[in-house]
Amino acid sequence: MQEYDIVIIGGGPAGLAAAISAKEEGVGNILILERGSELGGILNQCIHNGFGLHTFEEELTGPEYAQKYINKIEELNIEYKLNTMVLDLNRDKVITAVNPDEGIFEINAKAVVLAMGCRERPRGALNIPGGRCAGIFTAGTAQRFVNIEGYLPGKEVVVLGSGDIGLIMARRMTLEGANVKAVVELMNYSEGLKRNIVQCLDDFDISLKLSHTVIDIKGRDRLEGVTIARVDENRKPLKGTEEFIECDTLLLSVGLLPENELSKKAEVELSKITGGLIVNESLETNIEGIFACGNVLHVHDLVDNVSIESHMAGKNAALYVMGMNFQNGEDVTEVVAGEGIRYTVPKYINVKNVENYVELGFRVSNVFKNSYIALYFDDSLEKHIKKRILTPGDMETLKITKDMFSKYPNSSKVTVKIEEE
Ligand SMILES: Cc1cc2nc3c(=O)[nH]c(=O)nc-3n(C[C@H](O)[C@H](O)[C@H](O)COP(=O)(O)OP(=O)(O)OC[C@H]3O[C@@H](n4cnc5c(N)ncnc54)[C@H](O)[C@@H]3O)c2cc1C
Repeated sequence: MQEYDIVIIGGGPAGLAAAISAKEEGVGNILILERGSELGGILNQCIHNGFGLHTFEEELTGPEYAQKYINKIEELNIEYKLNTMVLDLNRDKVITAVNPDEGIFEINAKAVVLAMGCRERPRGALNIPGGRCAGIFTAGTAQRFVNIEGYLPGKEVVVLGSGDIGLIMARRMTLEGANVKAVVELMNYSEGLKRNIVQCLDDFDISLKLSHTVIDIKGRDRLEGVTIARVDENRKPLKGTEEFIECDTLLLSVGLLPENELSKKAEVELSKITGGLIVNESLETNIEGIFACGNVLHVHDLVDNVSIESHMAGKNAALYVMGMNFQNGEDVTEVVAGEGIRYTVPKYINVKNVENYVELGFRVSNVFKNSYIALYFDDSLEKHIKKRILTPGDMETLKITKDMFSKYPNSSKVTVKIEEE
């Protein structure tokens, strides 16, 4: 059995930042396990720019952003194993992994950082009727084909879903010479960042069909076209609004699922809402010494935020190895996602671990205009912040300070909710 102080599962931006901060905190014996043939995670296929505006104050491509962290990993002599798939993790932090050089092997870790990212929802999750023909890809798969393998998956394209990956791939396919006929979105708003709607659709005259969905797929061997229809407020297709669009390619960008099969094996608690992990203020899961960061925790829109969060997870894993216990303490406050809030990270705050403040991240469940973000300690209103617009695509943050906890010493829960005017 191999022994390490900290094992980090996943060598994407989350895993890299966690490893660097753990090492900088003073832990020497760290290992990153990555199933891919390179470090960098999903960033390796994101060759567009827009990364690192906050962290490095420059506009980098995904691989450039990742490389800065990879250089640091090399500089700090942090050990990593590539082509190494983690197969199992248990609550005692015993990891089973496999790679071509060592076969199946076991590692005993004092602390583990979960940084496995997320995967795309496939066609099977959507139940769209029609043929099982070629030409239907998830947007991320198409991105890999175009940006890494050098193949164009098709020429006449419809994109279903207007999250950031769908928007970016609509532009990418256009730049590569394909004709993107429409981006079709079930909701009456796009989940993507505003800047991506402008730079990926508006600048290329690609139409965004909100409140529409694909209701049929035509094609035997290769896709011949899709039928789209408008949907009502319950997202049910409306009769008489059907429109057939000829195309040879349908790209699906219909959500990301945190990659948490391993977490389940270790009995780590998951959010029923997001499939992500439930953590406390220190990014520690319900299992002592197992920390989480990046897209496996919850889906982030900016990699800069992944890096900041992962830096904290790595540091805390290091402190845990050095003897810190984040879970003892009487004063644990639950954070409740109230009306209009989909989920919050963290879900629990152990007040004794709060130095100055906790940065609470959350997403709203709908579009809200001229509304307030309200923060309550039990029934006492502590903060009321006016917002012109709130959309589910944007991650919101709120600082809960140590002083606030001192002001409400007997409060058992903190609630965030949206209050309309
Ligand atoms: C198409 C697209 C466009 C984006 N555009 C932007 C942008 O313009 N600006 C921006 O800031 N952000 C952007 N992002 C977001 C950013 O790339 C992600 O937030 C970030 O990559 C998440 O980092 P991560 O380390 O959590 O996950 P990942 O990058 O997915 O890394 C997870 C790693 O874990 C590994 N792994 C998983 N399971 C195992 C296992 N069992 N064993 C071993 N290894 C495992 C995976 O192989 C992977 O390398 C974009 C993302 C996508 C997909």
